[in-house]
Amino acid sequence: MSAPLVPAPLAFAADGTPFSEAFGDVYHSAEGGPGQARHVFLAGNGLPERWRGRRRFTVLETGFGLGLNFLVTWDAWRADAGCCERLHFVSLEKHPFTRHDLEQLHARHPEFAPLAAQLHSAWPLLVPGVHRLEFEGGRVVLTLAFADATHALRELRLAADAVFLDGFDPRRNPELWSPELMRGVARACAPGATAATWSAAAAVREALRSAGFEPQKHPGFAPKRDMLRARLVRGGREAAAPGERRALVVGAGIAGAAVSERLCARGWEVTLIERQPRRPADGPGRHAGVFHPVVTPDDSLFARLTRAGFLAALARWHALQSAGQALVWDACGVLQLARDEREEVAQRGAIATLALPPEYAQHASRNEASAYAGVPLAAGGLWFASSGWIRPLSLIDAQLAAAGARLDARFGCEAARIAHGPEGWTAFDRDGRAIARAPVVVLANAAEALRLAPQRAIRIRRVRGQISFLPRERFAAPQVVVLRGGFVLPALRGESIAGASYDFDDDDPSPRTSSHAGNLERLARILPGAAAAQLDPAALEGVVGFRAVAPDRLPLIGALCDEDAAAPGNPRLATLPRREGLYGSFAFGSRGLLWAGLGAELLASHLEGEPLPLEARLGDALDPGRYWLRALRRATSVPA
Ligand SMILES: Cc1cc2nc3c(=O)[nH]c(=O)nc-3n(C[C@H](O)[C@H](O)[C@H](O)COP(=O)(O)OP(=O)(O)OC[C@H]3O[C@@H](n4cnc5c(N)ncnc54)[C@H](O)[C@@H]3O)c2cc1C
Repeated sequence: MSAPLVPAPLAFAADGTPFSEAFGDVYHSAEGGPGQARHVFLAGNGLPERWRGRRRFTVLETGFGLGLNFLVTWDAWRADAGCCERLHFVSLEKHPFTRHDLEQLHARHPEFAPLAAQLHSAWPLLVPGVHRLEFEGGRVVLTLAFADATHALRELRLAADAVFLDGFDPRRNPELWSPELMRGVARACAPGATAATWSAAAAVREALRSAGFEPQKHPGFAPKRDMLRARLVRGGREAAAPGERRALVVGAGIAGAAVSERLCARGWEVTLIERQPRRPADGPGRHAGVFHPVVTPDDSLFARLTRAGFLAALARWHALQSAGQALVWDACGVLQLARDEREEVAQRGAIATLALPPEYAQHASRNEASAYAGVPLAAGGLWFASSGWIRPLSLIDAQLAAAGARLDARFGCEAARIAHGPEGWTAFDRDGRAIARAPVVVLANAAEALRLAPQRAIRIRRVRGQISFLPRERFAAPQVVVLRGGFVLPALRGESIAGASYDFDDDDPSPRTSSHAGNLERLARILPGAAAAQLDPAALEGVVGFRAVAPDRLPLIGALCDEDAAAPGNPRLATLPRREGLYGSFAFGSRGLLWAGLGAELLASHLEGEPLPLEARLGDALDPGRYWLRALRRATSVPA
């Protein structure tokens, strides 16, 4: 479980420098944070010279604090005509400031006002985990890990070129300078990475040496006499680098559209193959889906994955909108009503234990919930104020448009077979004609992915789902989304949507009365009273779709395995043989809207060798290799 996040309280020392009461130390020297940042961290790491001409340069910082080092680095990147194409800045922070406090703190540095304003508007909800913020159209990427630094360094996957060792005085905050922490830093570095810090303490030098760095004293930033510069001379991890940036993506649902957009944003040429004709977003596709995180008392892996997906989705959708794309969505709020008293107790317990910010999740009594909804509800429950609904077709369209000219979208074109040869992967149509060829193929075609690339260890089920459209004049719809075993949406364009059936082993593509009746029963559990009873299931319209569901209800995102190759002894995900250039992003179950964007960013980051956008443990839980790994471990375990 992640520890609850406690924001940093804002306080100032007598000379007006921001001060941490928890550590009894100032955030930067009174002579000025930006000057120190330029002297110690930029010059100390050979910047800006070292990032010149690079496609990507990655900075790791051990304490985000006020974010001055980030603002200074971003500012230097903007001012440098020869800057790297993409700057990744990965920073750890256990006690982040609230947006309001950051605004106050940054007002003292007007030279950064335009950049600070962008940081403030992108500042995430203060919940534990990894947050990715993009600036400069995605060329400056800030990855914030709101977690204890030692824990975060174990969970982050990156290959840093430069490290900013910044934290409170080693005497007051020794954990941030310990040999263990430095070993974590070294593991997150590329071979030959540099590090710099304002501290020249003997213990810091020793900790750096023990982790494989060679530290040297240099003149410090006044009033400090010395500072340290160090180079990693032992160990480090090489970042992957793609050869040719060309990919085939099969399937133009929300997963395939997201992967195409994320790859094109990184300069890839993508051929997207979709067997259906293109459906216009403003056409008859009336479907809208719900997005909201899950909260559990133990902040389970599932809850953390939904949180990561939720935050990534919100950030991406805002970015698409800022880039001028027309998304149809509303963060009107989502109520998840407790099914019974036991669940209500668990919900209250979870909110009390996790100390989540109210904009993310809070508990609402039945009366409060009814007030949010504007109609009487059957129970109280969790209130997700920043969640809501989105039209999937508008999201697909927005992502395809954002992908721009690098995307070659082939609608009405089925990939009947894929094959690997010396020139990479080729997709063939039903007549055996080659559709397109590329070194990388991403299967984003839901339950049918395994038809193109069988994986014996994985079993995906297709689960039918039907939604019902409820005419506004016959039904008083809530103002927010309400869930309780099913869902009901506010009225959109004159009708509300209720759903959804969950029918295993049922391939019937046509809406049917019995599924409408089931949806009305779900509705009655949400909204007591006559509303549902007045609706005749036989008179309702609806649509049917199919979910692709893996046994653990988590999607499969990443490289597919080569199950015919010899399995390694003592297998781990990292050592499983993989099929060259073959990737998947499918089996999103009932949460494609929540997870498809995060999955696409994860896949694109992996292909580019960039820092991953989520904790390693969460990424591993999505790895398609997990099923083969389990099968191998079962086969080799000795029965007791
Ligand atoms: C009734 C219902 C309600 C739902 N409600 C929600 C909700 O509220 N919130 C939420 O997050 N999720 C919801 N879901 C789940 C969500 O719809 C899915 O998770 C999501 O659609 C998965 O997207 P996808 O891109 O992986 O797959 P799909 O949308 O199935 O897209 C796969 C695409 O691949 C194409 N394709 C397949 N094979 C080939 C081939 N060989 N060649 C070319 N193209 C191919 C298909 O035509 C299709 O367009 C719901 C699902 C249903 C059925």
